[in-house]
Order: sequence, then C-alpha cells, then structure tokens
Amino acid sequence: MSNDGKSTFSIERNTQPVAAAERAQLLQDPAFGRVFTDHMATARYSAERGWHDAKIEARRDFTLNPATLVLHYAQEIFEGLKAYRLADGGAALFRPDANARRFRNSATRLAMAPLPEELFIESVRELVRIDRDWIPSSDGAALYLRPFMIATEVLVGVKPSSEYLYCVIASPVGSYFKGGAPAVTIWVSDNYTRAAPGGTGDAKCGGNYAASLAAQAEASREGCDQVVFLDAVERRWVEELGGMNVFFVFDDGSLQTPPLGGTILPGITRESLIVLARDMGLTVREEPYAIDQWQADAASGKLREAFACGTAAVVTPIGKVKGRRHEITIGDGGAGPVTGRLKAALLGIQQGRTPDPHGWMTLLS
Ligand SMILES: *Cc1c(COP(=O)(O)O)cnc(C)c1O
Repeated sequence: MSNDGKSTFSIERNTQPVAAAERAQLLQDPAFGRVFTDHMATARYSAERGWHDAKIEARRDFTLNPATLVLHYAQEIFEGLKAYRLADGGAALFRPDANARRFRNSATRLAMAPLPEELFIESVRELVRIDRDWIPSSDGAALYLRPFMIATEVLVGVKPSSEYLYCVIASPVGSYFKGGAPAVTIWVSDNYTRAAPGGTGDAKCGGNYAASLAAQAEASREGCDQVVFLDAVERRWVEELGGMNVFFVFDDGSLQTPPLGGTILPGITRESLIVLARDMGLTVREEPYAIDQWQADAASGKLREAFACGTAAVVTPIGKVKGRRHEITIGDGGAGPVTGRLKAALLGIQQGRTPDPHGWMTLLS
C-alpha cells in the first residue's frame, strides 16, 4: 500500500460512540488499561495480497476460528506508546518512529510479516485523530496506544502464519502504579529467568510476558511490586524488570544501565533517558551490573538511587530489593534527586512544556 500524502486508512465511524458526559466521567480516573476508546485501527496481511484493508472502525470483538494459529503457538507481538495532551490543547506522539522500527524487528524475530513503518505511524496518527477527545488532560495522564499483531491463519501446524491481523486500540490511562507509588519494592527471582541468549528477550512479544507471570506472582506473594530478572547464564547480572528497564545512580553522579545484547528489551524510554542524562552533563555507562554489587554498593552508600523506566510507568524509583539471598535498601528508600530530574526532563518534553531539542515529538494536526 502506498501513501501519497493521503490516508491509506479508510474511515468507518462508530455510529454509537460513548456519550460526551460518560466519557468525561471515564476520563476522571481511568486507572490503567481498563477503559478503551470508540475506535480501533486494523489492517490485514496475506501472502498473496500483502498488507491490505487498512481501516479505522468501531472497536469491536474479533471472531476467530478456534484453530487460529495465534491461539496455539503464540505468534504475537505488540507495542506501547502514548499520545499526550499538550499545554496548548494540541496533541502529540512521543517517538512513534522508534516504536514502528521496534515493531518491525519484533515481527522479524517472530517470523511474522513486517508492517511497513509508515503504515504503523499512520495507524496511530489516524486513531488518535479520530479519538482525540479521549486524551486525558490531568497531570501524568495520557492516551496509551497498543498496536499488536496476531497470526490468523487457520491451521494447527507449527509454521509461520501466512496471514496476519494488525490492530491498534487506545486506552486513556492515569498513573501505572496505584497511588502513583513514590518508590517500588522489587523481588529478585532465583527460580525464574526472563530471556536467554538466542531467545526472544529483545522482541516485544506476549510470550515473554506469559513466561514472566509466575515470577511476578512470586513477587506479589513476597510483598513486592515487580520482579527484577537476572541473566539466564550466570544468574548474576541484573537485566531488567518484567516490563521496564533499570538504571543505577552513583555517588559521583554517574549512571549505569545494563547493556542491550539480545536478552534485554531495547526500551525507548531507556534510550531517551540516556540522551537526556548526557545532555545534563552526566556520565552514562551501558555496562553489566551484578546483583551482589548492587547490594554492596547500596550498603556502602556508593549507590544512591535506582529506578525503572518504560512508557507505561515512565520513571519509577526503586526503593527496596528483596530476594532469598538479598535485602537491599537504596538511599533512604524513596525517590532520589537525579531520578526526579530525569523524570521531569522527559515529561517536560512529552507534555510539550519544554523545548524538544531532539525532535522526538510528532504533533498531530
Ligand atoms: C516495553 C518494554 C520495556 C520498555 O520499553 P519502552 O519503549 O521504554 O516502553 C522494557 N522491558 C520490556 C520487557 C518491555 O516489554
């Protein structure tokens, strides 16, 4: 499908949209991932026709044959990005091109048909345009966009599907952690790992999340908010949380984050924070960090702050770490100043309150 400045997406408006008063009510306290907008974007792929049938339509249920491939072998990928309400009333997306590229990489890893990046960007633009009254304006709120793709060939056989459905839904969201969580407590899992070399750790696929749920349940039983995973080979190096990358802040003002390399999801928030920290004149190292070092550095005071980051939860301080062999309190267990500065710098750009020197925002007309 080509795009000559005209939309590739045909538009079929929802004839029964949520009434304005009810929408206003829903937008007051939407929590996370429970409220959805009136429309969705969809496109289909088949080996014969390539990508076709791109449209914006009323959000509705799918009808799937029980033999649809995704239901059996989990050939599924997704993305997560946000549309922000700007101070001047306009709307913007944060780095949708980076999500489009990552979606294509995830598709390649899962042996799926890659979606052209322009089509990805257009799908989110068009969906936000039609549902822009759903972008919340309260502080910290945004319209969370969830592009995803599933294997739709009807077959119980292990092979890449010859047909795919791409879809984007949108959900107005408030803060990810209940109560805005000043700092989270995380659980070091020694029973489970998230990703092994050669696996799918750097692809954004639902299967990675399914595989992380037992560890997340273990964390909850231990009174923790999230899990931090160690590497699968030595069970020593800190990799990331179930759905967020991790950073450390030291007493000399430098930062460190585990290097990408196949087992860590390349977060767009991670990459943006590296740039913003360097803009502030801070040193950022992408180097491995051992869990025992984390404990030692927190005890000695060398480690001052730690935080997790991702689109959904933005920047979240890590106050404590627990595990069968670990008990770590970072700083005073609350939010530290460098974490706060980085979060403010990122949100300032995303909410259009500060200049955007790296051209990260895509304004929506
Ligand atoms: C999506 C995701 C992240 C964060 O990526 P962002 O682009 O910053 O939202 C981190 N880790 C995992 C496992 C993820 O799926």
